[in-house]
Amino acid sequence: MSDQVVTRFAPSPTGFLHIGGARTALFNWLYARGRGGKFLLRIEDTDRERSTPEATEAILKGMEWLGLDHDGEVISQFARADRHAEVAHQLLAEGKAYKCFSTQEEIAAFRDQARAEGKSTLFRSPWRDADPATHPDAPFVIRIKAPQDGVTVIRDRVQGDVTIRNDQLDDMILLRSDGTPVYMLAVVVDDHDMGVTHVIRGDDHLNNAARQMMIYEAMGWDVPVWAHIPLIHGPDGKKLSKRHGALGAQEYQAMGYPAAGMRNYLARLGWSHGDDEFFTDEQALEWFDLDGIGKSPARFDLKKLENLCGQHIAIMDVAALRHEIEAYLAAANLPPLTEKQGDDLQRAMYCLKDRARTFPELLEKAHFVLQSRPIVPDEKAAKALASVSDGILNELTPHVQNASWTRDGLEEALNAFAEAQGMKFGKLAGPLRAVLAGRAVTPSVFDMMLVLGREETLARLSDAVK
Ligand code: GLU
Repeated sequence: MSDQVVTRFAPSPTGFLHIGGARTALFNWLYARGRGGKFLLRIEDTDRERSTPEATEAILKGMEWLGLDHDGEVISQFARADRHAEVAHQLLAEGKAYKCFSTQEEIAAFRDQARAEGKSTLFRSPWRDADPATHPDAPFVIRIKAPQDGVTVIRDRVQGDVTIRNDQLDDMILLRSDGTPVYMLAVVVDDHDMGVTHVIRGDDHLNNAARQMMIYEAMGWDVPVWAHIPLIHGPDGKKLSKRHGALGAQEYQAMGYPAAGMRNYLARLGWSHGDDEFFTDEQALEWFDLDGIGKSPARFDLKKLENLCGQHIAIMDVAALRHEIEAYLAAANLPPLTEKQGDDLQRAMYCLKDRARTFPELLEKAHFVLQSRPIVPDEKAAKALASVSDGILNELTPHVQNASWTRDGLEEALNAFAEAQGMKFGKLAGPLRAVLAGRAVTPSVFDMMLVLGREETLARLSDAVK
């Protein structure tokens, strides 16, 4: 066996990709990708009633948004049912499993009696050691022969050693009487066949691990490294739920959070590397390990997410930023940018990307470049505009006409003009924001003028004094 790391994400397709699932996927992706390993995707669609193709689609889209690419085909667990049954039959042939003919009524009667006698109600099948010659011609399930004494130890990389007394394990059913495999068998067979070396998943599956171990041991298969990560809680310390806000990973795309910020934030939900809060994908890939995963539930904190997102927007490449903003607009069902708007936005990006925590915030600052004339000031801007006379704006026009069109040149020309008028430039800035953007909060007046160019700046000035 090679020592290449193989991880997997194994969602059940019963809804969108939720925050917890996205974090599990990210941890598995980081662990594998950071070690030159493989990251596989298995859709656990054995529950035919609850699984839908739409949910699978939503999970794939969510992962795509987050950039969590997987290796190879998407594996359907349901499609592998024959292989799961084959393993149950192999265990049967090897005497590690048996046919159990007990009916529901018999099992219920067994439990009633055990209860009455004050004994454990774990079902002990009379067929475990029965001579096959005594088998009736009747429906049966296949049960595994669970160890009955000693202990099972799960060596978990997050939880530590978790010990379960074997007398607390029953002879779990592997194959139902209709021949269909149970989920627990499917997971183990799939993980083994897929060559999974590390199982990183929510700690709601810790109990399953003990039962899954039985199958590994009966088959003589290598047990993967387990890492059961604590669930995510809301800011109030209670299990994350709808009342804490959005739960679907993609809802965050539609709210305008950049994927890189989301990845950074999700990585920090339950994992840490010293005091580092903000980091790049490269750093996360280099640093991520199982030792840094905490034992107590992480709390979801929207403020922290926003802060990290702002830092990521600030360092993003402008072309990539434009591309992601266009994807955001589509995800949020907002009108797309025209080619010209996209180009203008990209040109203006240098003065927009600092201090915008989300794409809506960035686009609000971009209003001046996305809007075409005539610029209609909003209420605040209109007030600012009313604080100066048309006369001043008229007088300003030739100075703008003659200014040298560089940041320094514009600063010099406007400051000199303000001084000659006996006012501070600050007094002029509000009205100019209104003229150029129709807004009170904008990038600096000089940056707006530079981005708009002389002609457009003059046109907006002349619109305003009309
Ligand atoms: N399908 C399970 C879930 O969505 C995950 C099982 C596993 O990771 O072993 O919770």
